[in-house]
Amino acid sequence: MYAIKQAMIAKEHSHHPLDTTIFYMDLRTHGKDFERYQNRAKDEHGIKFVRSRIYGIDPTSKGSDDLAIRYADESGNIHYETFDMVVLSIGLSAPEGSAELARAVGIELDRYGFCRSLDFSPGQSSRQGVFTSGAFGEPKDIPETVVDASAAAAMASRLLAPARGP
Ligand SMILES: Cc1cc2nc3c(=O)[nH]c(=O)nc-3n(C[C@H](O)[C@H](O)[C@H](O)COP(=O)(O)OP(=O)(O)OC[C@H]3O[C@@H](n4cnc5c(N)ncnc54)[C@H](O)[C@@H]3O)c2cc1C
Repeated sequence: MYAIKQAMIAKEHSHHPLDTTIFYMDLRTHGKDFERYQNRAKDEHGIKFVRSRIYGIDPTSKGSDDLAIRYADESGNIHYETFDMVVLSIGLSAPEGSAELARAVGIELDRYGFCRSLDFSPGQSSRQGVFTSGAFGEPKDIPETVVDASAAAAMASRLLAPARGP
């Protein structure tokens, strides 16, 4: 999703017509309206999506910054295409300090290093009274993070409710 967004924004900000191509092996736009976003990128913004496997990225010639991509399409045919710039889309992983933070707070992480939440109580960590929201739980976008944050605030105030007044 962020690669699609960056490609769209690059096109919007460019002073010159800009061609952008997203090479991918597997692409899933799960989440509300995300597939519509991808279709808009393709149909309205002209971003190309190429299902492929890239075998090499090489400089084209001395004195040029261009890069030649060598890739195989779905039928196994090899293609070459030249670009001004190649951007590697990397996955999102848990921050390095998560384990230390989890130890200090006394909560469990899952096997990917994100906070483990109870299955039917998202946001409730393994320790009563400690709630999580946003990307500490798993990769998320901003709207989901905002919903999470409201949920965490609501769960915290539910615990505090009996103390209201006294
Ligand atoms: C490249 C990229 C593009 C994205 N584009 C979009 C987009 O277009 N739209 C969208 O909806 N979402 C987008 N996202 C996702 C979005 O950034 C996240 O959903 C959102 O930032 C999650 O908010 P958060 O508060 O959970 O985490 P963060 O925004 O990461 O905030 C966590 C904060 O905690 C601080 N912190 C960490 N550890 C500690 C510690 N031990 N003590 C004190 N502070 C600490 C960090 O410094 C950071 O400021 C994008 C993400 C990436 C990586």
